[in-house]
Amino acid sequence: SSSSVTKMDSALFGKYELGKLLGCGAFAKVYHARNISTGQSVAVKVINKNKIAGTNLMSNIKREITIMRRLRHPNIVKLFEVLASKTKIYFVMEFVKGGELFAKVAKGRFNEDLCRKYFQQLISAVGYCHSRGVFHRDLKPENLLVDDNGDLKVSDFGLSAVTDQIHNDGLLHTLCGTPAYVAPEILAKKGYDGAKVDVWSCGVILFVLSAGYLPFNDPNLMMMYKKIYKGEFRCPKWMSSDLKRFLSRLLDTNPEKRITVDEITRHPWFKKDYKAINFYE
Ligand code: ADP
Ligand code: MG
Repeated sequence: SSSSVTKMDSALFGKYELGKLLGCGAFAKVYHARNISTGQSVAVKVINKNKIAGTNLMSNIKREITIMRRLRHPNIVKLFEVLASKTKIYFVMEFVKGGELFAKVAKGRFNEDLCRKYFQQLISAVGYCHSRGVFHRDLKPENLLVDDNGDLKVSDFGLSAVTDQIHNDGLLHTLCGTPAYVAPEILAKKGYDGAKVDVWSCGVILFVLSAGYLPFNDPNLMMMYKKIYKGEFRCPKWMSSDLKRFLSRLLDTNPEKRITVDEITRHPWFKKDYKAINFYE
């Protein structure tokens, strides 16, 4: 394989056998791997920690990881363990076979029932994390994976907070993800509520799944920001009026007036066939 990770690395050696490269993010590489003693398939995210050395970032990262490891939800990619060597951090995660939701929607928009199913699973995961004080802050279809059964799994929950700190300090690569999912109050740079920006991103995701394109888009980044700031978007004619009304509540530019996760679960469009589950251990 094209693995850049030395297979003799002391942190992985003897426990996991690295396989092929699954995906390349802005600052990390994700590999398929096999637990040598159990045979279990896992995904290993490798982060280069060279540039974090000498700062206090490691302790922040460790605290965040402690929270992450306690999260147990059927729609969140499970973090099994974190290993570290001198130069790398390895996040050992549940392997999700079906790939990114992004790839599926790129082939064509979904019908409203399928959109609802994915959105219910997304909100179930998001609400669970919010109730534990964990915010994703980088929700987008590229970070949503689909398993063998067609169920959605949110990837990297909580890790975005960790990696954000790295980005902000410019210690690793600069952030180069799409800004299309960013809430207007983040653009305003006046501080924001983690729960409310996650709801906004969920609104953009729901629009993309049902329309097949972004609600706020422009080849010029400043123009895109302007559109997000104004919050003006047009729903395609095939959308039900229930869904249109729901989207306008999710994509309300005023975070104070924007629908909350609690209100989402009571909304008529959302409620249809929703089975709320309790996930307490
Ligand atoms: P980054 O945060 O750098 O974008 P991600 O964690 O999103 O990195 O991973 C990059 C890609 O690797 C994902 O878009 C996905 O295609 C793949 N990937 C990540 N985690 C898993 C996983 N648990 N199972 C299968 N594929 C994964
Ligand atoms: Mg990603």
